[in-house]
Amino acid sequence: MIIVLKTEPDPAEVARMEQDLERRGLSLHAIKGQNTQVIGLVGDTASVDEEALQMYSCVDKVLKVQEPYKLAGRRFHPHDSIVDVAGRKVGGGHFAVIAGPCSVESEEQVLSIANDVKLSGAQFLRGGAFKPRTSPYAFQGLGLDGLELLKIAREKTGLPIVTEIMGQEFVEIFERDVDIIQVGARNMQNFLLLREVGKTGRPILLKRGLSNTIEELLMAAEYVLSSGKSRVILCERGIRTFETATRNTLDLSAVPVLQKKSHLPVIVDPSHGTGHWDLVFPMALAATAAGADGLIIEVHNRPEQALCDGAQSVTPALFDKLMKKLGRLRNVLNEEAQEEVSV
Ligand code: PEP
Ligand code: MN
Repeated sequence: MIIVLKTEPDPAEVARMEQDLERRGLSLHAIKGQNTQVIGLVGDTASVDEEALQMYSCVDKVLKVQEPYKLAGRRFHPHDSIVDVAGRKVGGGHFAVIAGPCSVESEEQVLSIANDVKLSGAQFLRGGAFKPRTSPYAFQGLGLDGLELLKIAREKTGLPIVTEIMGQEFVEIFERDVDIIQVGARNMQNFLLLREVGKTGRPILLKRGLSNTIEELLMAAEYVLSSGKSRVILCERGIRTFETATRNTLDLSAVPVLQKKSHLPVIVDPSHGTGHWDLVFPMALAATAAGADGLIIEVHNRPEQALCDGAQSVTPALFDKLMKKLGRLRNVLNEEAQEEVSV
């Protein structure tokens, strides 16, 4: 962190600031130019509040030289991290597809979809048991009964399960029963929940908040990682913009941006990202071409009767077509990557 002082700062104020910073264990390195004076701060600056530094009357501006996300960032972890769930890998060149209904509705529904997506090549089964609905009158999910149905589907298909946690009260149950714990867009900044799920050791699928920046997403990942046990998969799922033609605006540039800034795997959700089943196919391909490490896709055997998000759910038949096309696209991308390496 670098502090740029005002021209002709009050020496007493500079001394007061320097003492305050040294008392916090930081070492200071001053550089005096002809017109400008700067102070470099060395040490653990993560807890230094730039806004608060501006309160010293001698400070002109404060510049950060390091990202505030040390665990999620690439600077200290140059290699891609790979999340491995019983041999199914995401990240570092491993591509995974998570598919299933928005919400678990019945045993017949979840088993039928789980079988279909497995046959098409999905590596994980998704399904909401606890649903974060805008209206309290909308279907809220089957709760723990839904989780039991997901466990039956896992038992029958062998697909690991991905499901959303809504509150801290269920952390223990999720730690025991769920293979990848999803923290949804609406809870991306539920900091107490992030800390708690980070202690489970289960991989956390962290979805970008509706109106959150990439830096805020990485800081949310930092919360999970700072608890020391869990790994994180980041998910771009669309953000709020002025556009109303789609449910959200799928920010595909977030994929390479996140991959540049972070070593964590990045997957894309074209279902919530667009809100329309017929846009899922092209945006899934686009996300893959942009370098995503995987996809999460809503699939329903009867989208018109779905209790949640039917309009953005693809049928098992369309999902199967998509998986075949994704396979071909990935082959082309891998060939291109090989050629780049050999040039
Ligand atoms: C979901 O995956 O079903 C969901 C609610 O997603 P999001 O948190 O991205 O809205
Ligand atoms: Mn949904």
